[in-house]
Amino acid sequence: MTPQLPILGIDLGTTFCCVSYVGADGRAVVVRDLEGGETTPSVVFFNGSQASFGRRANARRHDLTNRVFRFFKRDMGVPAARLSGKYQVLGFDYQAAGLQALLLRYLRAGAVAHFVQAGLLAAEAAETAVIEAVITVPAYFQEGQRRETRQAGQAAGLRVAGIINEPTAAALTYGATLEKEQTILVFDLGGGTFDVTVMRTGPGRAEVRASNGAFELGGKDWDELIEQYIKQEYRQRLGRPVPDELVWQVQDAALQAKIALSDAPQAQVRLDGGAGVLELTLDRAAGAGFAFGKPAGAGPAFAFESRSQDLLTKCRTILQLVLTEAGLGWNDIDEIVLAGGASRMPMIGRMLAQESGRALTLARPGFSYDTAISIGAARYASQQTAVTDVVAHSIGIELLDDAGRPFVEALLTKNTPIPQAVFEDSFEADAHATLKVYEGEGTAVRDYPRGPLGVLQLGNPAGPVRVRLSQDAGGVVQASVSYDGQTVEKTIEPFGGSLNLSELSRRVQAVRLELP
Ligand code: ADP
Ligand code: MG
Repeated sequence: MTPQLPILGIDLGTTFCCVSYVGADGRAVVVRDLEGGETTPSVVFFNGSQASFGRRANARRHDLTNRVFRFFKRDMGVPAARLSGKYQVLGFDYQAAGLQALLLRYLRAGAVAHFVQAGLLAAEAAETAVIEAVITVPAYFQEGQRRETRQAGQAAGLRVAGIINEPTAAALTYGATLEKEQTILVFDLGGGTFDVTVMRTGPGRAEVRASNGAFELGGKDWDELIEQYIKQEYRQRLGRPVPDELVWQVQDAALQAKIALSDAPQAQVRLDGGAGVLELTLDRAAGAGFAFGKPAGAGPAFAFESRSQDLLTKCRTILQLVLTEAGLGWNDIDEIVLAGGASRMPMIGRMLAQESGRALTLARPGFSYDTAISIGAARYASQQTAVTDVVAHSIGIELLDDAGRPFVEALLTKNTPIPQAVFEDSFEADAHATLKVYEGEGTAVRDYPRGPLGVLQLGNPAGPVRVRLSQDAGGVVQASVSYDGQTVEKTIEPFGGSLNLSELSRRVQAVRLELP
């Protein structure tokens, strides 16, 4: 008999993934991927019907004859029709969820190899082992994106034990280093998403007070500031736009320069190819590049921090919003916890110090920006911790006002604690009526440009219908409808964007993984 395997905590990041578990001794173990890394770049490279992943896939990005995918997490939940074949390979549209599934299959393979090596799993049983995982998602993810994440896990051959918010997971890891409870603010600036969460945490507990963020804000946007500058200088100095075959090089150079600027006040960029050689010096701060002999008043040509002001303002706005939503001021916050690789940029720490009026502790023993989310998910999976999360977006239904005009009434409001988030009420409804369910904020139907989340079929009531909506810890909306003394459990039937899970699983399992 094989002993029960530990449940994995998987941080399925936009740019990097990390896998860990809590061992029998209660300590967290980070599982190295098949290339030996603690984190795995979220990159999938297709060579015909074969796929490779991580650093190996990243190294092949320059091969323009094959398809390579990055940042697909940003398209989770977007209906395939809107992406017009963006994720199509050999005639099959994997959608973002299919690529997540492939990546998860690769991470699963790494975990299986680890379990075998650690003596937790017999080599003969490796093929058929049931691997369970808790997968993390941005707090700001909507119901459809959460559901697709769960389905991606299933298509990858994982048993998905739960979905948990990334900042909550980071807080659990941080909380484990504490002796008593604190109110903390988790600032998670990853590669493609940004989340801010205020919560109460301590050893073995996390209770979220408020959470907000942006899907489309992350380190990638800072890369693009540098990319734009390189492209502009290329055109100006070499007399033509950057040729297609150099685009990857520009992206790499921008990324490396950004990272270099976290450690040094200046970084060099060198681009060789196409129309000639381009050499640039980038400065971190305005004023840093002054040298004797330069005309007075001339700032550096490229000052990274000055150009980042708009992005920093976006971060600041969300930061202030979350505090307001939590009903707290900076004085109530005991600690600011940084997560996400892009939080390493010095301008982030400085902005937070200015906003909060305090010095920040940037390094903490036992807490790493890169592994904290995965370890927190593993702690949650091992039930070492109790979590109270909140509703990320209000859930409402469409009703008619006295004049017969439709409006949206919020039933579960944003930031209500889960699992207490339950709404119940009675409505007069016609036979076979459908309730349109919306996710987001606002009372007008036009406040929901993506349309309804889904519908709730009411059946054939003889009198008033009692509708009950609730949200589980993973953010999935449950519904039940009762009338004539019967209760019917319902799941909300999503509009569009829903995947055919069995087809997707079959396709994902048919791809040959090229393992290192
Ligand atoms: P995700 O959660 O999106 O997978 P991570 O939290 O791992 O991402 O953060 C990845 C982002 O952090 C990338 O944009 C990466 O370039 C950036 N990053 C990593 N290290 C540094 C650094 N030293 N300085 C600035 N940015 C960094
Ligand atoms: Mg992340």
